[in-house]
Amino acid sequence: MSESDQSRQSPVHNGRLYIETVGCQMNMLDSELVVAALRQDGYQLTDNPKDADTILFNTCSVREHAEHKIYSALGRLKYSKRNRPQRVIGVLGCMAQKDQDLIFQKAPHVDIVVGTGQLAEIPRMIRETRSATERVQQKAVSLGRREGSRDEITDSFQSYDPLRDPEMRPTPFQAFVRIMIGCDKFCTYCVVPATRGPEQSRSPSQILAEVRVLADQGVREITLLGQTVNSYRFTENGRMHRLSDLLVQISDVPSIERIRFVTSFPRDMSDDLLQAVRDLPKAMKYLHVPAQSGCNEILKRMKRGYTVEEYREMMHRIRETMPECAVSSDFIVGFCGESEESFHKSMDLIREFRFKNSFIFKYSKREGTRADDLYEDDIPETVKRRRNNEMLDLQNQISEEDNAEFIGRTVSVLVEGPSKWAAKKNGPATDGHRPGEPLATQLMGRSECDRIVVFDGNPRLAGTTARIRIDDCTVTTLIGTVETLEHQHGSSGILPILV
Ligand code: SF4
Repeated sequence: MSESDQSRQSPVHNGRLYIETVGCQMNMLDSELVVAALRQDGYQLTDNPKDADTILFNTCSVREHAEHKIYSALGRLKYSKRNRPQRVIGVLGCMAQKDQDLIFQKAPHVDIVVGTGQLAEIPRMIRETRSATERVQQKAVSLGRREGSRDEITDSFQSYDPLRDPEMRPTPFQAFVRIMIGCDKFCTYCVVPATRGPEQSRSPSQILAEVRVLADQGVREITLLGQTVNSYRFTENGRMHRLSDLLVQISDVPSIERIRFVTSFPRDMSDDLLQAVRDLPKAMKYLHVPAQSGCNEILKRMKRGYTVEEYREMMHRIRETMPECAVSSDFIVGFCGESEESFHKSMDLIREFRFKNSFIFKYSKREGTRADDLYEDDIPETVKRRRNNEMLDLQNQISEEDNAEFIGRTVSVLVEGPSKWAAKKNGPATDGHRPGEPLATQLMGRSECDRIVVFDGNPRLAGTTARIRIDDCTVTTLIGTVETLEHQHGSSGILPILV
């Protein structure tokens, strides 16, 4: 082996890296890519911050609470930085773009602040910080949305899609793929257009190349990411590509079995997309389409760009095209000016459409947003909390009733691995347990309609697709028994389960 081969295979050990990620799937993907780049630079991951020479926080600004958590975590590192001045502390992502110098003011021991559009700079910035003879603080952020022409601002937000790192993925069989960054919808409560910049789609050929690499690495399920993923548009070789076209192209990659996409914007839920999801067997029958409110006045204040009637029309098109498709939603309770009547209109919308689940958030005022400038945050915290709980109770009741409909049915599940609930101690596996192998473990995976399914099985089923008969359920989970394996590491066709 040549020296250059050797150095490629075993990079110089550059220290231990600890990274903490909060927020959405986009942040999880960013962290995966940052870690991949730093591992190329010789860093080893550790899950203990005490061992780390470099500590990074990949942050979220969507809610105040998420920011407070990061500032508290940074506060706890103040003294350790005094004892270990060589340790590099970095803040990345949305909060870095939003707060910028404020982070250095509140936490002077932070060394680097890197916005969402500059993640490619991180290895260089860490190297420079570590080799500096005198301490320097470095900042790399994009332009604000009013700090230049559209082109200048767009150029300052660079999509970051370099090497992939299997170790950072949710499982080795699943991967996120970014198809667009940024957002131009400017909902009045939201910081994303400022922290992630203008809407920019990636080229289909780049996306497809990335999917093929992931497929070669053993990935079976791809989740396409975008803040408003169904707004995807890219003109390449004289042809405009939409999300429906991407779904067709990715479906042609042989070892990819499942394709999902989040998050959809109601106004951009086009018929061609619904038909593609219906007609492509690999497209999972699940859509996440946040409604945010069931009251037109509130939707207008939020500047969501649709009315309840238009959301209803979209839901009818989804149901007509794919009666079996699961739909989940997001709601904000306690938005500025939300009366009891407005709140009850949101509750009615949940009753009407019986969402698979809803992510419910109490409104949290965000500095720099239009809502913060225009409206008073006038709903008391106690009222927000009560509405949050009432809505959660309603949604839970619906989710449990709908989950109960699955009892006695069989669903197809990509097995992800052991469930969060501890491995069971009693009883051998019923699926081909061999001497010396671990006993039955509670495994988990997701159905095509995105329901969490748990069942007993051998851990080596991870990565296979199994048919699970549903015997019971909770609000959040279907509980079942393995019936057959559909697809097992490179084989195809229905395989009988070994018992
Ligand atoms: S669509 Fe609205 S809520 Fe979603 S990221 Fe864009 S501005 Fe924020």
